[in-house]
Amino acid sequence: MIGARDRNGPPDVTLIVQKFGGTSVGDIDRIRGVAALVGATHARGHEVVVVVSAMSGETDRLIALARKVTPRPNARELDVLLATGEQVTIALLGMALEAQGHRARSYTGVQVHILTDSAHNKARILDIDGDRVRRDLAEGTIVVVAGFQGVDEHGDITTLGRGGSDTTAVALAAALKAGECHIYTDVDGVFTTDPRIVPEARRLERLTYEEMLEMASLGAKVLQIRSVEFASKYNVPLRVLSSFRDGGGTLITAEDPAIEQPLISGITVNRDEAKLTVLGVPDKPGIAARILVPIAEADIEVDMIVQNVGADATTDFTFTVHRNDYARALESLKRVAAELRARGVEGDDRIVKISVVGVGMRSHAGIASTMFQALAGEGINIRMISTSEIKISVVVDERYLELGVRTLHSAFRLDRAPG
Ligand code: ADP
Ligand code: ASP
Ligand code: MG
Repeated sequence: MIGARDRNGPPDVTLIVQKFGGTSVGDIDRIRGVAALVGATHARGHEVVVVVSAMSGETDRLIALARKVTPRPNARELDVLLATGEQVTIALLGMALEAQGHRARSYTGVQVHILTDSAHNKARILDIDGDRVRRDLAEGTIVVVAGFQGVDEHGDITTLGRGGSDTTAVALAAALKAGECHIYTDVDGVFTTDPRIVPEARRLERLTYEEMLEMASLGAKVLQIRSVEFASKYNVPLRVLSSFRDGGGTLITAEDPAIEQPLISGITVNRDEAKLTVLGVPDKPGIAARILVPIAEADIEVDMIVQNVGADATTDFTFTVHRNDYARALESLKRVAAELRARGVEGDDRIVKISVVGVGMRSHAGIASTMFQALAGEGINIRMISTSEIKISVVVDERYLELGVRTLHSAFRLDRAPG
C-alpha cells in the first residue's frame, strides 16, 4: 500500500506535486518555462515535487529503436531503455531550476524507491519510500522525480505503461500526503470530448473520480487510468491544467452531494480495439467458454461480448480485444472454430468504440434512444452495443469516428454551458 503509514492525519496543504507531460517539456525553452512555473509555486511558499515525462516523441523513438533490433524486444531490456527518456528530462529540469536560482535535485524512480511489481512494461506501484524526498523538501530543495518508472524487488528497472507518469505523480502525492496534485498538459483541462476531434468541446470545471475513471477507461488518454484509481483510493485532489495557458483547469475529486451531477459528462473514443466473430456455432451450453477460455489462456483481455441467436439453432459470437492482440486472437479463434464445426471466423480491426459517459445517467431514461437516433440520422451503422450504469458504448466503423463523436457531442448539447 502506498505510504500507508503516512496517511494518518490531514494532508499537507503546503506540499504540491506538479507533473508535466511530454509536450510540456518538449524542448529546452519549454523546460525553462516549466522551471519558471515550478519556481513561482515554490516562491509562493509551497514545497514542490515535480514529476516529468520524457520529451515529446522520445518514448516512441526508443520503442522504434528497440523494434529495429527485434520485433518483440525482451520486456526487461525494453524497460531499461525506456526509463532513459525520463532520466534526460529530470536532469535538464534540475539544471534549469538551478540556473534560475533555485535549489533542485533530480531522482530516478530507483533512487526514490518507487517499488513496483515485476510486470515489465506495465508494472504497478506497490510502495514509495518518501524519506529522501522529505529530507530535501525540508531543506527548501525542489525535488524532481522521473515519471513512468520504478524498481522491482530484484532491483530491476520497471516502467508503468504508456501515460504512466500521471500515476507516478499521484502515487507520490498520496505517499507524501500532498495537498493537491497538478497534472500539466497540452490542453486546458478535461473536456467534454477530445478537443482535437471536436473543437467545440467544452472544458469541464469539475469531475468526480468515478466519472474520470470511466472516461479514462473508455479512451480519454488525458489521464492514465491507474492515476485516477490511486487518486480516488487515497483521496488526492487532482487538477488537470495547461502548461501553456493560465486557467483553472479541471478539478477531480470525490462526489460532492451539494453539486448537481450533469446527465452526461463526456464522449470518449477508443481506437485500440478489434472485433472478432465466430459464425454459426451450435447454440448450446458451454460454447462461450469453449471460445473464450483459450483467449484468456493466451493472456488476451476481452472487452465487449455479444451473442446473436439465429433461427437455425446456431449463434454468432462476437467480442472485442486490444488491437495488439488481434492477430493472436484470430489464430486461436480459427482453431476453436474448426473444433466446433462453426461456419467461419470473421475479424475487423478497423473499428472504434465511442462511449457516452455520465453519472447522471443512473436516474434518467432515454439516453440510449437519443444516442441511437442521432447515429442513425447520420447513417452510421452500430456494430455492437454495451451498457453499464453510467455509460453506453457502441462499436462503429473507424471511418465514422469523427462524424460519430461530433454528432453525439451536439445531440447531447455538450457544446453548450449547462443550466
Ligand atoms: P501528456 O503528454 O501531457 O501526458 P497526453 O497526450 O497523455 O498528454 O494527454 C493529453 C491529450 O489527451 C490531449 O492533447 C487530448 O488530445 C487528449 N484527450 C483525449 N480526450 C480528452 C478529453 N476528454 N479532455 C482533454 N484531453 C483529451
Ligand atoms: N513517457 C511515457 C509515455 O510516453 C510516460 C508518460 O509520458 O506519461 O507514455
Ligand atoms: Mg499522458
